[in-house]
Amino acid sequence: MIIVMKTSTTKKELAQVVAKVEDLGYKPHVLYGVERKVVACIGDERGKARLQALEILPGVESVMPILKPYKLASHKMAQDKTVIKVRANGRKSEVAIGSKQFVLIAGPCSVESEAQILATARAVKKAGAQILRGGAYKPRTSPYAFQGMEEEGLKLLAKARKLTGLPVVTEVMNPSDVALVAKYADILQIGARNIQNFALLKAAGKLKKPILLKRGMMTTIEEFLMSAEYILKEGNPDVILCERGIRTFETATRNTLDLSAVPVLKKETHLPVIVDPSHATGHWELVEPMSRAAVAAGADGLMIEVHPDPSQAWSDGAQSLKPETFAGLVKGLKPFVKAMKRTLA
Ligand code: PEP
Ligand code: MN
Repeated sequence: MIIVMKTSTTKKELAQVVAKVEDLGYKPHVLYGVERKVVACIGDERGKARLQALEILPGVESVMPILKPYKLASHKMAQDKTVIKVRANGRKSEVAIGSKQFVLIAGPCSVESEAQILATARAVKKAGAQILRGGAYKPRTSPYAFQGMEEEGLKLLAKARKLTGLPVVTEVMNPSDVALVAKYADILQIGARNIQNFALLKAAGKLKKPILLKRGMMTTIEEFLMSAEYILKEGNPDVILCERGIRTFETATRNTLDLSAVPVLKKETHLPVIVDPSHATGHWELVEPMSRAAVAAGADGLMIEVHPDPSQAWSDGAQSLKPETFAGLVKGLKPFVKAMKRTLA
């Protein structure tokens, strides 16, 4: 921790701070700047709450941590970028998220029926998606809205995987469902609304399957990384971060896609970062331009909602692409992916 003194601090106030720091068992190290003095406190990080309390002493401006609070997620902790390999059961082809390969995850918001998920899976595969998405447990604002097909939906996703060879990602909302969802899914998604469901994060951390963690709509980047830290701390190293828009004063879009989060996260962490332009914008016409922008910002992949007939979708129809629109988007993305020196399978 470092204690930043006010420019007006007196010698007596500084001496009092130094004495207090020693009392707490820390070694104070005073740095004399041109304008102000800073006291670096060397010692056990666990006592930092007591140091924080020194903020009330006269002459003290602020008390701040030196190190980032996310240690395992921090860039400094890893030599290399994390690459997460995913493969559908029994299939040879592998998707490497966080590698040179740009990854496309596509599928409906919700699994609605066998015909719907199988048709979507075939179409997105044909267009170039490497992973199928589809919600079986849906976090809905209204308790009267469709809540998902639950285990029936998971079974249909498994069927779609068997048919197409695409690995599947699906959301888990409750710690008690983690084992069941993990039985069917290749990647488990933790949604925006559950970003600080710490029991769920801990349960996900005990799994041996990758976790796709979506940023909350009111979550700072530091809080986002602290949630990833919960999963990493439990022993699961495979966390994919997903920027999906945050809530701002703007109402023209469902959320505001914080694309600057991509380069910030790339600087702060070794974990792969993908972008979900569907939930970020809420409007299907905005998905393609924001997909291009996400590639240019340095994302490792995209997650896009696709439905065979968006007008009939049980959830998020307005932001879902028709299969042919998705195919056009993938085609149009190619020069952008190439410009970023990445490949699109
Ligand atoms: C989803 O991906 O289906 C979803 C509900 O997204 P989010 O958690 O980002 O709202
Ligand atoms: Mn959705």
